[in-house]
Amino acid sequence: MGRVDAMCGRVGRLAALGATLAGTAAVAAVPVAVDVGHYLEKPGATSAYGVTEFEYNQTLAAVIAARLERDGVPVRLIGYKGEMADLYARAPQAEAAGGQFFLSVHHDSVRAEYQQTWIVDGKEQRYSEYARGFSLFVSRKNPRLAESLACASAIGAALREAGLTPTPHHAEAAGIGRPWADQTNGVYYYDNLVVLKSSTVPAVLLEAGVIVHPDEALALATPARRALTAEAVAKGLAACGVTAGRRSAKIPGNPLGDVGLRPAPPAQPTAPVAHETDPALLLLRRPQPGPAGHPVAPDVADPGRQHRLDGPVGDELGHAGCPG
Ligand SMILES: [Zn+2]
Repeated sequence: MGRVDAMCGRVGRLAALGATLAGTAAVAAVPVAVDVGHYLEKPGATSAYGVTEFEYNQTLAAVIAARLERDGVPVRLIGYKGEMADLYARAPQAEAAGGQFFLSVHHDSVRAEYQQTWIVDGKEQRYSEYARGFSLFVSRKNPRLAESLACASAIGAALREAGLTPTPHHAEAAGIGRPWADQTNGVYYYDNLVVLKSSTVPAVLLEAGVIVHPDEALALATPARRALTAEAVAKGLAACGVTAGRRSAKIPGNPLGDVGLRPAPPAQPTAPVAHETDPALLLLRRPQPGPAGHPVAPDVADPGRQHRLDGPVGDELGHAGCPG
């Protein structure tokens, strides 16, 4: 784990420097933990083209981290190397590193009964046009629910302002639908998500989009879409008071009234932020046009990383929507 810590350590700059760079008042940004959903052995959902959710999560998490770091927000990536098999270890690791806000990054799927099969590059894959769009989750078992919800709503609002639409499909299934926390901004309650309920700091899980959807899978793999999502996260965390410059933001219902009350820890030596040109991030195999005009996914080098979509839906897996 030490080696992993060295690779994935604090990537932020000095908070004071960050505030200067952001052109805001000299208010320290709180460190943010950005959690890469799933891990190599159980990589979550699979896209319509056979790309694992973990690969999508890893790339987007790094782009979000780089975007926050640009504003001087110290970031700790959790599970970046795909090593975090223990869901219950994620929040403690984030908090031990000084994380004062926990964002878990995921990509979504739909239930198996809404999926069909097709052949992509000679292999059978599963796809669905049942749902597309982003969603956000908070847990009522998190001790700082009001702040969590305020930030989830703010991120959702920023995603909508950027032209994206939340998906309602998590609320639809009869008897097992998730209750809305903020329908307008695509926020659901999902109380037993491990990474949310085990966090003692405000925590939000983001499903950036539905990778089993043929069109959205392609869009989500583009640098433009990742940048748009990262920008919305940065705007949302500023609006809800987590990051520098908005310390006075009031959170309705929160007796503290202020997410950014806690000071940032002392500055530490920093490591270069991971970004998209990092070779470790080039795992995402972007689909290429196939002979019939359909996009196809290149072969996945390690078949053991392919994930079947017939696993349990999972609180235990720390997953909001997609099977497995
Ligand atoms: Zn997931």
